[in-house]
Amino acid sequence: MSSTFEPEAIRRDFPILAKSFRGKPLAYLDNAATAQKPDAVIDAIASYYRESNANVHRGIYALAEEAEVAYHDARKLVARHLNVDQEEIVFVRGTTEALNLVAQTYARENLSEGDVVLLTAMEHHANVVPWQMVTERTGAVIKVAPIDDRGCIDLDALWALLDANPVKLLSLTHVSNSLGTINPVSEIVSEARKRGVVTVVDGAQSAPHGPIDLKALGCDFFAFSGHKLFGPMGIGVLFGRKELLAEMPPYHGGGDMIDEVTFEKTTFAEPPQRFEAGTPNVAGAIGLGAAVEYFRGLDLDAVAAHEQSLHDQAQAGLESLPGVTIHGKAPDKAAVLSFSLEGIHPADVATFLDSQGIAVRAGHHCCQPLMEILGVPATVRASFAFYNLPEEVNRLVDTVRKTIDCFK
Ligand code: PMP
Repeated sequence: MSSTFEPEAIRRDFPILAKSFRGKPLAYLDNAATAQKPDAVIDAIASYYRESNANVHRGIYALAEEAEVAYHDARKLVARHLNVDQEEIVFVRGTTEALNLVAQTYARENLSEGDVVLLTAMEHHANVVPWQMVTERTGAVIKVAPIDDRGCIDLDALWALLDANPVKLLSLTHVSNSLGTINPVSEIVSEARKRGVVTVVDGAQSAPHGPIDLKALGCDFFAFSGHKLFGPMGIGVLFGRKELLAEMPPYHGGGDMIDEVTFEKTTFAEPPQRFEAGTPNVAGAIGLGAAVEYFRGLDLDAVAAHEQSLHDQAQAGLESLPGVTIHGKAPDKAAVLSFSLEGIHPADVATFLDSQGIAVRAGHHCCQPLMEILGVPATVRASFAFYNLPEEVNRLVDTVRKTIDCFK
């Protein structure tokens, strides 16, 4: 692993970045969809399967113990990274499963007719649909805090919604995957908690960009996906405050989540095991532990500065072109840049970029309600990670320029 922050050197930790597509070197600018994996993660997974594979929780032989220790060590690494206790870390498949878990356990148990679940206008479908599913069953209702023209949550409107309604739960994204807005989550959480509102933070897009201190953030639940944090797919984390997890019924039933089972009745294990029914994704957890370690080993201030500079370079370059609209101009932004070109469909832009080996995403980014507010069916989204280079941003801007010329 690289010890100091030099993007060129860091790229060598990520074998996929050396590939070419369409005869051009890959410029991977779709990091908000999933991030690439360093050798440290790939090797940790391979080494688990080569040397330590056994089912956890069930074996009394040495190999099973080794697997079990590695699985729980991964939980410790994640807990330390988030500055919480390991009992507060539930391994899940990803952010989507984490949010569904909270909706179908905590919320289903605690919401009643007329209670309000408060969301914001920039939520990913993963932070909308689970709440619709649970409010339909409980008679609770969803209200949505609006955003302004820059793509920031309208805080006055949010406070008013908090005051005027029997809000039970507020669930919001830390960083918008479509607009890049970094929301003032600790301020919002603190206002919500003053009013006795339980808070859920979707950290899918914030976890890959810097340290996360959940003690400082103060939220009740926090969710993120391993694959966006340079770890494997199929593993993610739900943090839940101890007191809340302790009260919650299980999500899935089965092996490993029980205390005692008879045909008449089952008593359940303590958290986090209560929420981890069945054989867990041991290799995934170990890969995530390796990803967290890799990420913590970087100079995260330098990472933030580098990503910000790539973002600013891309924004300035794109804004210098005719007919470009940037969606999302919050003062506090992660390195996510959504844009549209007048008269050119986002899918055509992405296809042009792909012809030059540049990977971006075109679509609604699982934010259809937000797209409706923006008045567009889709956007093109370039999203950067610490291993991206200014040359890649130049290629992005040049190819967008050529696309505009082509459609003239
Ligand atoms: N929330 C946000 C803000 C996201 O960007 C994503 C992934 N695009 C998700 C939730 C869902 O994450 P996953 O698909 O890994 O469960």
